Amino acid sequence: MLDILAYLPARRKSTSSGWTSFNAPCCVHNGESADRRQRGGIKVTDQGWSYHCFNCGFTASFILGRNLSFKARKLLSWMSVPQEEIERINLESLRHRSIQGILDDRAHTFETLQGIEFQERDLPAHASFVEPGTPHHDFLLNRCVPMNYPYMSEGRERAIGPGAPRQAVIVPFTHHNVIVGHAKRFLDDRNPRYINHIQPGYVFGMDLQGADWQHVIVVEGVFDALSISGMAVLHAEINDAQARLIRSLARDVVVVPDQDEAGMKLVDRALELGWAVSMPEWPGCKDVNDAVKKFGKLVTLITIMQARETSRIKIEMRKRQIVKRILN
Ligand SMILES: [Zn+2]
Repeated sequence: MLDILAYLPARRKSTSSGWTSFNAPCCVHNGESADRRQRGGIKVTDQGWSYHCFNCGFTASFILGRNLSFKARKLLSWMSVPQEEIERINLESLRHRSIQGILDDRAHTFETLQGIEFQERDLPAHASFVEPGTPHHDFLLNRCVPMNYPYMSEGRERAIGPGAPRQAVIVPFTHHNVIVGHAKRFLDDRNPRYINHIQPGYVFGMDLQGADWQHVIVVEGVFDALSISGMAVLHAEINDAQARLIRSLARDVVVVPDQDEAGMKLVDRALELGWAVSMPEWPGCKDVNDAVKKFGKLVTLITIMQARETSRIKIEMRKRQIVKRILN
């Protein structure tokens, strides 16, 4: 009964990247004309499903064991699922509340009490799947990030001439598996290379953390976080709201700054927060993602834990070494 595919129109197709696509029911409700090119996509996950419209950008997700979100309810009603059926799905979902679901809810309540809350957001309109053989797919492979993350792409046709849309990979930002923003990484390496749509206090990577992990590795960039299942503050600073969110995990925090000038400011902030810092010796690498590309994920993680330092004096010494190297 919770099989979402049962509610989809008969005319649909499956893509190699695991999406089922069909004519999106959302666009007419979002000021766009009706979709006739099967641009609505649903991806079933082991925990539920997520929906994305590659036309108007509407997104919604559902996690078994949780209440249906406002946007998931909207989507189901646009798919002509009767109201009482929607309530039935919700009740059935809550019957599947697992220990993990209860723990998640507790984390949620705790965050709400701490004033940590993010609004559910849409992704950019007119995005596409990331298909093998595209520059977007090659970019992600080259970054050595897990390919099962729900990336999207923009500008599939090669941009020609001035004013043509820039090719970009879109990384959805999730929090408790709900989309709350995104990063756009342009492939042409022109500035700006990134555009982040980020809500205040957001830290990327909460959903990458294992339930029983003792450490959380805090990095700067989204690809650094993806490549080692860390958390990214998305710039070279950690604001108070971000610090609260990281603390709410109640884990041992290790900050791994980029080994450049901006990264060294992050070291000072980590010291202020009383967190451990790790600045491993990675010849020719500026950040975690460089290290993963060069040495692999396992070696990168081992060197991070080996270089983990809590002594202020030792951290300052290491920082001075790196600053000297940057200046030379
Ligand atoms: Zn739509």
